[in-house]
Amino acid sequence: MSTLTEHRPTTAAPPRVHNFSAGPAALPEEVLREAQRDLWDIDGSGVGILEHSHRGPLFDRLLAEALADCRKVGNVPETHEVLFIPGGATLQFGMIPMNFLHPGGVADYLDTGVWAHKATVEAQHFAETVGAKINVAFDGRPTRYDHVPADSEIRPSDKAAYFHYCSNNTVFGTQFATPPLSGDTDRWTKTPLVCDASSDIFARPWDVARHAMIYASGQKNLGPSGMVLVIIRRDFMESARRGHAKLVSMLDYRTYHEGESRPNTPNSWGIYLMGRVFKWILRQGGVAAMAKRNAEKAKILYDAIDSSGGFYTGLAKPASRSMMNVSFRLATPALDERFASEAAKEGLDGLKGHRDAGGIRASIYNPMQKEGCQALAEFMREFRRRAG
Ligand SMILES: *Cc1c(COP(=O)(O)O)cnc(C)c1O
Repeated sequence: MSTLTEHRPTTAAPPRVHNFSAGPAALPEEVLREAQRDLWDIDGSGVGILEHSHRGPLFDRLLAEALADCRKVGNVPETHEVLFIPGGATLQFGMIPMNFLHPGGVADYLDTGVWAHKATVEAQHFAETVGAKINVAFDGRPTRYDHVPADSEIRPSDKAAYFHYCSNNTVFGTQFATPPLSGDTDRWTKTPLVCDASSDIFARPWDVARHAMIYASGQKNLGPSGMVLVIIRRDFMESARRGHAKLVSMLDYRTYHEGESRPNTPNSWGIYLMGRVFKWILRQGGVAAMAKRNAEKAKILYDAIDSSGGFYTGLAKPASRSMMNVSFRLATPALDERFASEAAKEGLDGLKGHRDAGGIRASIYNPMQKEGCQALAEFMREFRRRAG
């Protein structure tokens, strides 16, 4: 042990910037420090987390805690399973129709943004190969994804295998305040409601019971990229491709359930890290405290936009504004560019908008501190004085 100790890493940390990146995004500093420590030696075992067997007692405990803490954070009812699956949210775009869309069936999709569109297209490809249909129940493209639909704009089909939506549209910065067709409780006892919550999971309280499935990639509110958290109702999971050709096992949700999220060697680092983030959320007071802080953070930035006399224009209609991704633009793309590069020099990083939306986007997920938003709002006022 003594020879190894000589190589112990220094914990003196250089200063960090305010990171507004859309994902991978900022992590809580407390979690980074725990991870730094546990990468070297976790729980005095003399072995780092990356080096522990995924079937050993230490990982058994980490996995059990991550699952239990996820249930606590999300208030996940007993009817639902929690699974960790590799491949990110994008793999879910394919797995969902593969498991739940049968020949002759139809699934409803809301096309509300870049990711929701990708999910729709992936489902359409699969539907074509098995002789099923996708009903695009709302198409946001004609209005450049500037809002999420009111219930009156949604055209659901009668007997959908499931209804898919994206709760927060990361690229254009729009968010559902409540799930679509919220008043229609009868519908959601019959039609499985499936949600891509990649960019606002655990940023506010969730009505998990209403959903047959909620999934979220890690790198926004949960930490690690390359894996996805899936919360799925057991009876929905069991209905996968019943009576049809057997799925490749690694694309079947039941494999992850039966294999306790480790049917093969899992991303143990990712599961560990999500577990730490769950504990961090609980220490902060849970999702209710997150929601309160997120609303305050977003208000700071939207106020800066709205009080700018048109110098900054929000991309999203006010009623659809996201608490997670604040998108806006300046008068010209050249001015957007100048804003982002001068902000970066002030320690405000990752503000350039997605290539499909342009403009500026400040992503302010759970770990972003209020101070980061205040610093950005101050920079916005100061930049306007200089360039306005
Ligand atoms: C980031 C994101 C995705 C894609 O996640 P990957 O892990 O890269 O596959 C999907 N949906 C939404 C809403 C996202 O924000």
